[in-house]
Amino acid sequence: MPFKKPIDDLTGFDLSEDFQQFDQKNDIYCRSLWDTAVQSDKAKAFFNGYFMPEARSRRTDGFNQRDYALRNATWHVTNVLRDIRRQDTGRKEGFFDYFSSHEAGWPEPYPFESPDQASADVRKVAKLCGADLVGFCAFDERWMYSGIFNEQTLASKANEIPDDLANVIVLGESMDEDLTRTVPSALSGSATGMGYSFDALTLLTLAQYIRNLGYRAYATMNDSSLAIPLAVQAGFGEVGRHSLLITPEFGPRLRLGRIFTDIPLTHDTPKKIGVPAFCQICDRCATGCPPAAIPFEPPSPKTHNRSNLIGVTKWTVDAEKCFKFWVNQNTDCSICIRVCPFNRDYSRWYNRIWRNIANSPLRRLALWLDDKLTNRRRHKSSWWWRKKQ
Ligand code: SF4
Ligand code: SF4
Repeated sequence: MPFKKPIDDLTGFDLSEDFQQFDQKNDIYCRSLWDTAVQSDKAKAFFNGYFMPEARSRRTDGFNQRDYALRNATWHVTNVLRDIRRQDTGRKEGFFDYFSSHEAGWPEPYPFESPDQASADVRKVAKLCGADLVGFCAFDERWMYSGIFNEQTLASKANEIPDDLANVIVLGESMDEDLTRTVPSALSGSATGMGYSFDALTLLTLAQYIRNLGYRAYATMNDSSLAIPLAVQAGFGEVGRHSLLITPEFGPRLRLGRIFTDIPLTHDTPKKIGVPAFCQICDRCATGCPPAAIPFEPPSPKTHNRSNLIGVTKWTVDAEKCFKFWVNQNTDCSICIRVCPFNRDYSRWYNRIWRNIANSPLRRLALWLDDKLTNRRRHKSSWWWRKKQ
């Protein structure tokens, strides 16, 4: 497997000879099931808290029963789909395994006139199914998980995505901006939960559509591959200091799904929006991260622990510190999203102007404007509940 590819000249990815594909077993959530360095009773309670009887709500703003009631409900559809085959087959779809709940498709591939025509149709249908962003790129084995976590054996099993599928469809679901203002809170986790639930619906419908056209399609969410490198290759945006994707449409508020397929598609081109240069003059996420999991230093190949990707020069978050903070506060955290200057509503003209300034030599002005004009402090959960839609 080549560790460098021509697409890296467009994405700016910097891989070295010691690059290794990531084994999902080393993902921090998987490690919490097998690795004593991460396992704890608190971690168990954190996961159980996503189900109401064990939510451990408290009186604190953002963590009371109605906050957990919503957060846990937003995960419900994803949980139903996750468990649909779990009892019979042990598959945990959308998390460890690709979605397999499909009807029979068409036996012969539909004769599109060209990849451009197929791309236009798929893009249109993806939007109809609820995708906020759609992009296409080539299959890239570097980002496929070298192993898939097996919940029964607590070991790795083979990745089941065939390696002869030429194309990847990347789908983005935006997260609610107002909810991200209430981070950290159980309530704000609803933005993540809805992102996943919308993603699952979009992925399953679009994959079935492609199968109905007579092509192969494997819908994946947290399983099977890394998401961000494929999203960058599909032209979504660039990666920030907080290791999250930043897009011109939604900043860092995006959940990502992928469909691996052989339908002919015209690939998108990676997009430069000035994120790395901006992050060099900004450290809001690193300063705002309570457990100091985000680096202040320039990108480097340094890894913190086995949850990090080996052989890539980039900003790398210490996933152990991050997860420990999540577990301690009994819900997920997105402070790094809330405080990021790119986190804005780009349907407003003045935010689009800000984006242009941020992607120019005047980026220090953009940072100053964000400091002066944007309230990035935590909003109370009660503010969100009272706010008119
Ligand atoms: S999610 Fe929270 S704890 Fe994790 S890196 Fe972001 S700010 Fe830090
Ligand atoms: S907060 Fe600043 S440094 Fe962090 S990702 Fe956003 S722009 Fe980059």
